[in-house]
Amino acid sequence: MSPRTRRTAHETAGSPAEAAAARDPSALRARLRDPAAFTTIVELVPWRGVLDDPGGRRARVMAAALATDPRVDALSVTDNAGGHAMASPEILGRELLDAGSEVIVHVACRDRNRNELTSLGWRLASAGFHNVLCLSGDYPVAGYEGLARPVFDLDSVALLAMYTEIDAGRWPVAGDRGAAHAAAAEAWAPPDFFLGAVVNNHKRLEAEVIPQYQKLALKVRTGARYVISQVGYDARKQDELLRWMRRAGLSVPTIANAFILTRGAARAFHSGRIPGCTVTDELLAIVEREGASPDKGKAYFVEIAAKQAAIAKGLGYAGIYIGGAATHDDVGRILDTAATYGPDDWRTFAREIRFEQPDEFHFFEEDPETGLSSDVVSRPYLRSKRRAARPPHALRAPVAYTVNRLVHGAVFAPGSFGFERAAWGHGLLEKYHLGKPLHVFEQAVKVPLYDCRDCGDCSLPDIAYLCPESQCAKNQRNGPCGGTHDGACEVPGRTCIWVRAYDRLKAWGEADAMLDRPPITTDNALRRTSAWANTFLGRDHFGRLAAAAAAAAATTPEAATTPEAATTARTTARDVSAGTGTPSGATQTKETDA
Ligand code: SF4
Repeated sequence: MSPRTRRTAHETAGSPAEAAAARDPSALRARLRDPAAFTTIVELVPWRGVLDDPGGRRARVMAAALATDPRVDALSVTDNAGGHAMASPEILGRELLDAGSEVIVHVACRDRNRNELTSLGWRLASAGFHNVLCLSGDYPVAGYEGLARPVFDLDSVALLAMYTEIDAGRWPVAGDRGAAHAAAAEAWAPPDFFLGAVVNNHKRLEAEVIPQYQKLALKVRTGARYVISQVGYDARKQDELLRWMRRAGLSVPTIANAFILTRGAARAFHSGRIPGCTVTDELLAIVEREGASPDKGKAYFVEIAAKQAAIAKGLGYAGIYIGGAATHDDVGRILDTAATYGPDDWRTFAREIRFEQPDEFHFFEEDPETGLSSDVVSRPYLRSKRRAARPPHALRAPVAYTVNRLVHGAVFAPGSFGFERAAWGHGLLEKYHLGKPLHVFEQAVKVPLYDCRDCGDCSLPDIAYLCPESQCAKNQRNGPCGGTHDGACEVPGRTCIWVRAYDRLKAWGEADAMLDRPPITTDNALRRTSAWANTFLGRDHFGRLAAAAAAAAATTPEAATTPEAATTARTTARDVSAGTGTPSGATQTKETDA
């Protein structure tokens, strides 16, 4: 059924049952694939409490009205947004499915381990939810008798990888036990997921912006089939995102965020209390002024959102993602207002909604004609890369990083003289049950140097020798979450490890390939075991990735001739991240860019 037909079904369905029967579970993906379509998605935030609480009743009234609005293509239900415990998105989502709506359900890794995420995936697919937005999730802010303990067993990239594999018919259990389960499973009905991801492109620093783009590329390579941008009010950055994606060959549909501000929301975004959402000083001043008007600024805030929708359409986004709506009327006013604009009005709006942060990094030069982005890569950025590519690197990078590189190259790089001997030695020690003393020695070295938490599946080489277990609040092993604010972690008190990693790698001219590798997932069975032994004996994620690459090359011999297959996963995951290998990156700007 085409999206247009689905709209007719909305309009003519006489009952929720009829509407549900008329629903085409692939309508959203079909619409997003249609280059002529501009999709409207509205975000719904569940309430705190049970279904019949006043908050629940209000949300359901709004959701029911949106579900029957033919201008709205999908409703997107958040999962404990902001790190607060709220009603499960499935509760509201179920009602919306029954009403015939297309629903995107958010799945955050914060509150669940991988088994619960697997179980949830099956539960969602069984209930008819196929559009899943994969998120790491905001850090929890409060809970019963204190702060909730976050889980982050997986991050958003690893979740995308797992759901993609489940969808491809692979049994989500590793090792011999997984093989036995897979062999026993007679019929395997894929959940038919349509997986999405978020990108936070409204960052100020180069060391935030580029890693966000790199992580986006990793998400798309891993299985994201549509992308939604984060809250921000800068048309140039919105333009830049699409241009960067085109340049990187990422052709997934991208949906622009349009959040309806209020004074309270703007203050919270401006203060950094809501991770990843940006409101500048200049915009806050306008919001404060407009918010003092008799309608509390509503008309102005609706107008900004309508203009953002027009800009998104003009720039070539696949749709608009409306957040912050308190009522169906809010959404209706935005869509009605946007419908009154002429085809070229967005160019004027794009000059108006350009709230830049001080000294904000832009990947591309500004186009002076439009005030938006051009396709010319930022000259200061290219100059800084050229400088970084020249020695002496060691003077620009922290000494600790330089020493780590040397040690890694000599001992931990597969194929090195040290690696082969260390592998032989560890094998021998394990054979005679003498691994424990070496593990104690390893901890005596790694705890003071890296604040090591003995996870046994070490990602130090992946993150420029920074430990994600102890120094990243969300244990992000596949790039930064969207929560940084001016380079600081969303959990106050430290700089984001990915910002630090980017700066370390850039000092050696190697930042381009930081995330040019497969997704990393840790094996918790290795906790409290020697990471060195696991590395040398191929039990950690480097070993698993190498084995997977070898298996893939064996089953598709022609793939072995491609650069990706020829460079084993072990090399890409370990040596490129560690800065001792040859980057194979295709997603970033090379020195020849001008
Ligand atoms: S260190 Fe960076 S990636 Fe980790 S939680 Fe903080 S902001 Fe997110």
